[in-house]
Amino acid sequence: NKMVVLKRHVTGFPTEKDMEVVVGTVRLRVPAGSTSAVLVKNLYLSCDPWMRGRMSKHDEGVTVPAPDFVVGQTLVNFGVGKVIDSTHPEFKAGDLVWGMSGWEEYTLVSQPESLFKINHTELPLSYYTGVLGMPGLTAYAGFMEVGRPKRGDFVFVSAASGAVGQLAGQLAKIAGCYVVGSAGSDEKVDLLKTKFGFDDAFNYKSEADLAAALKRCLPDGIDIYFDNVGGATLDAALLHMRHGGRVVVCGMISQYNLEEPDGVRNLFCIIPKAVRVEGFNVGGYLQMYSRFEEQMSGYIKEGKVVVVEDVVEGIESAPAALVGLFSGRNVGKQLVALPRE
Ligand code: NDP
Repeated sequence: NKMVVLKRHVTGFPTEKDMEVVVGTVRLRVPAGSTSAVLVKNLYLSCDPWMRGRMSKHDEGVTVPAPDFVVGQTLVNFGVGKVIDSTHPEFKAGDLVWGMSGWEEYTLVSQPESLFKINHTELPLSYYTGVLGMPGLTAYAGFMEVGRPKRGDFVFVSAASGAVGQLAGQLAKIAGCYVVGSAGSDEKVDLLKTKFGFDDAFNYKSEADLAAALKRCLPDGIDIYFDNVGGATLDAALLHMRHGGRVVVCGMISQYNLEEPDGVRNLFCIIPKAVRVEGFNVGGYLQMYSRFEEQMSGYIKEGKVVVVEDVVEGIESAPAALVGLFSGRNVGKQLVALPRE
């Protein structure tokens, strides 16, 4: 059983050397005596930015979304797998599932309540790490429930070609909005306009003035800013919000590796413009997963939503793939494919 373990706690930008692939023994049965465990053969591991937070060592008492990873132990995140043994009444060998698993080839899941059965096996299984999994639900809950779009709204999405951003933008188009995205390369900007149907897009790395870029692309201002990055982009967007606008605070990836957060100076703009700034955690929306899965799988089949994935092969590729999220190396949803047999 090959597994990715944390080698040391991280400060600043993570590197591949913070993790190590080690070999442990393979378990092919749930241990005798266990009444509610599921043994999963992992097929796809998802790389998600929130894993970075868990790689730090936080002081006691600090509020964190999930406990720190332990040095020497296997990393944990969402994944897609096949049940090979189960003592839990709701799962049986052969079931395809997605949910919390280890960054390893085989995982004994002791809390199978955190697993979802995969219903749409006619769609690529890997989609359950992205569009039909946690990032998809994040885009859907964040844009539809927190953003509450109206037809004709002007929408801005940052990290727009990524797992969440590409879907937030496409949901905005479905909702009848005008959508602009930002991304970190000309290739990604091209993808936004030609593949995902954004009305306009810009490369934030080559713009001298982000506020000017927003004014150029959205001359009438922003009704909904779906924020994946925080920092300078959030600051520029705040200046450019329309009256009654909404900032959906999904993520702040530009801040995750900084010792001191970048100051956001334009928060005052939310007062005269009566802007609602609202954060959310996808964990609070799991009860709407079934409705979301049906709707999103329908959009995919109708061609209303397209998906771009960045797939690397083999568990040895996982550390580099994870680290790559923080330099924008991924084009689309980053995931790791493991051997089927
Ligand atoms: P992505 O697939 O978008 O990958 C990360 C992308 O972020 C990179 O490709 C890069 O794209 C961009 N990025 C990296 N560093 C910076 C930086 N310093 N400044 C600006 N952009 C940067 O990731 P996800 O779609 O999975 O996640 C997007 C955001 O959503 C993250 O902030 C994540 O934490 C958040 N999130 C929040 C959830 C919630 O419940 N609220 C749940 C899931 C995700 P580029 O080349 O464009 O720079």
